[in-house]
Amino acid sequence: MLTEDSPLTKLVKKSDAEQLGRTKGLRTVGDLFEFVPRRYLQPGQTTDLSQLRPGEDVMVVAEVLKASSRAMRNRRGKMLTVVLGDERGNELDLTFFSAYGHEGKLRPGARGFFAGTVGAYGRRLQLTHPDYELFESDREVDAAVEHYQTHLIPVYSATGKIYSFRIRTMVQVALDSVERIREPVPDEVRGRRGLLGRTAAYELVHRPRVDEEPGRGLTRLKYDEAFVLQTILAQRRSATEAELATPRLPRPGGLLAAFDARLPFELTAGQREVGAVLTDELARDRPMNRLLQGEVGSGKTVVALRAMLAAIDAGGQAALLAPTEVLAAQHHRSITTMLGDLAEGGMLGGADIGTKVVLLTGSQSAPTRKRSLLDAASGEAGIVVGTHALIQKHVQFADLALVVVDEQHRFGVEQRDALREKGVRPPHVLVMTATPIPRTVAMTVFGDMETSTLSELPRGRSPITTHVVDADRPGWVERTWQRVAEEVASGHQAYVVCPRIGDSDAGQNDGPGAPLSSDSSDEEAGDWDVAEEEGPPRELTGVYTMLNQLRANPALAGVRIEVLHGRLDADTKEATMRAFGAGEIDVLVATTVIEVGVDVPNATVMVVVDADRFGISQLHQLRGRIGRGSAPGLCLLMTAGAGDRAAERLAEVAATTDGFELARADLLFRREGDVLGARQSGRSNSVRHLRLGRREDEQIIADAREDAFAIVAADPDLRGHPALAAAVAMRLDEEQAAYLERG
Ligand code: ADP
Ligand code: MG
Repeated sequence: MLTEDSPLTKLVKKSDAEQLGRTKGLRTVGDLFEFVPRRYLQPGQTTDLSQLRPGEDVMVVAEVLKASSRAMRNRRGKMLTVVLGDERGNELDLTFFSAYGHEGKLRPGARGFFAGTVGAYGRRLQLTHPDYELFESDREVDAAVEHYQTHLIPVYSATGKIYSFRIRTMVQVALDSVERIREPVPDEVRGRRGLLGRTAAYELVHRPRVDEEPGRGLTRLKYDEAFVLQTILAQRRSATEAELATPRLPRPGGLLAAFDARLPFELTAGQREVGAVLTDELARDRPMNRLLQGEVGSGKTVVALRAMLAAIDAGGQAALLAPTEVLAAQHHRSITTMLGDLAEGGMLGGADIGTKVVLLTGSQSAPTRKRSLLDAASGEAGIVVGTHALIQKHVQFADLALVVVDEQHRFGVEQRDALREKGVRPPHVLVMTATPIPRTVAMTVFGDMETSTLSELPRGRSPITTHVVDADRPGWVERTWQRVAEEVASGHQAYVVCPRIGDSDAGQNDGPGAPLSSDSSDEEAGDWDVAEEEGPPRELTGVYTMLNQLRANPALAGVRIEVLHGRLDADTKEATMRAFGAGEIDVLVATTVIEVGVDVPNATVMVVVDADRFGISQLHQLRGRIGRGSAPGLCLLMTAGAGDRAAERLAEVAATTDGFELARADLLFRREGDVLGARQSGRSNSVRHLRLGRREDEQIIADAREDAFAIVAADPDLRGHPALAAAVAMRLDEEQAAYLERG
């Protein structure tokens, strides 16, 4: 008996099942149903070879007329050429660069389906390595032809030797013989939303007759995906709400009040509003779980600091978790500065209500680190700022009240959970992100959190203009460096961002024993699977290559140029950032280490080298480093020989500074499965059918969310919904497996 849960070995031989599992993640019959075709070919014309046009994707019914193989000159193995003919005497060639496995089957007289993209070789048309399926009898041919006169032809993404046809056959067999398909969506919901049954949806997706059917089927699959995800989120939310937190009540006349009294600026209305929400939630006996989003420079850090001070006022401690050492050090510095003598608790001359702010990172010297650890454990430190190092087991707090996670997208849920466990009771959690989060993503990836948005920028921010520079035109490149020189001459500073570190000529930074910092791995511009998108990869410009070029450029004579990247040791990074902040460096050639949070208001120009290697959101983040002061910002995106899609991406970035618009565009441009996966390890993140950048799908998610939250509210353990409970369990298992695989 075949069910959705049957392993694929019930359908195909073990080695094929293994390959489908390894390359496509297909393990069960249910997985196979969820593996929707990449596209569909139109029926008709399957028997007339004279109708073919180069570039078309086709499937034809034909007979093998001739087949010949010969050794190749430059490679091992044999090449196979096959000539096909139709009933009217038209011909089509097939070419296989490896005859192995095909030679025995494609003999003259063999008949079957052949599918592929039509190419031209000389004056003849051909299919290269087509997918094919041969028939035994006239009856089989007739049945298949008839089927395809009335049905669209699904095309599945092939893997290794398992071509689309084989997958199609597998799916059809499975559809015909599967016992019963589970229905996770309750009847009531299905009726109300007018949703197809799940079995019908699979039929439409895998065996459609007319154009609009696959779309209808897919809508149902999208709803299911959203519904299961939202059920998980609803359960997570209800579990958090069942936990007890220590209420942290405001203290009049405490640190927060003292801090507010000396703030050099007025809080924006948004900052005040969010501040009130946080104060309120900290005072409750349920753990806060809130996401604070706001454009770069919208003043999130001040908001978070105020919440931390409130936590300290109530007798607790706060931890601030930053994604990189550069950022942790910078937070530590700026918080210490903002607090002034309030950060000198226990020190002679400090304010009497003051507290202590300590830094904890992986590459600190042992004694410094030990002191920070002691201060955290004793409660001496009110605020502990750190990187991943904060999460480690031996780090203890006296009474952790609030965890602030900066730039959320670099942290997984497991890491946050580890931090939560450091409290006596679960601490309140505030997550900050500068990546604007479109509503679809807010509802899915962050669906178990409450969200707040800071939408207005503090006064005194300047506009940023962005241009794309064609690096193939020497004049434009020259002009770019001149602009940088002009900004420097007028007292400003510049960033030059490169996609990779490259080798330092002197080798001094890569010498043996140089500590690898924890953040060096995520700074290479790895956002795009570029090879797949636009052909052979070009050599990417490294930081050191750029440094040497710029130092040798007469236009930049006398300009002070230095580098910053994750392979530098922590002290060097820190010193470089400090020097740049102090204006002792004019141009900083860097990797994406500067992507988040780095704040030097005097920097006005940014040149991004090989800009096509960066994603939309990443460019937007990078660009946020400039225009932070009173002078307008200029961002120059340099690119050479970028493909169409890359050019389009850059044009989007140049066209708007609206982060939400760009975030949505980004979602559309990315390969969907990766949208959240790369950044959100361990979250309910990868989506199979939903397209988060699409407005239509936003409504599907919103509906599913409403339905799922209502069901969980009435029945948190899903006792009355076994099929839904099973789907949830399966999804969680998958996530767990994916998480473990990623390490
Ligand atoms: P974000 O973390 O959202 O990128 P920050 O909190 O780092 O933004 O704020 C950026 C800069 O703006 C900091 O120098 C900060 O002191 C300043 N700032 C924050 N809030 C205000 C405000 N209300 N008015 C003026 N300046 C502000
Ligand atoms: Mg910040």
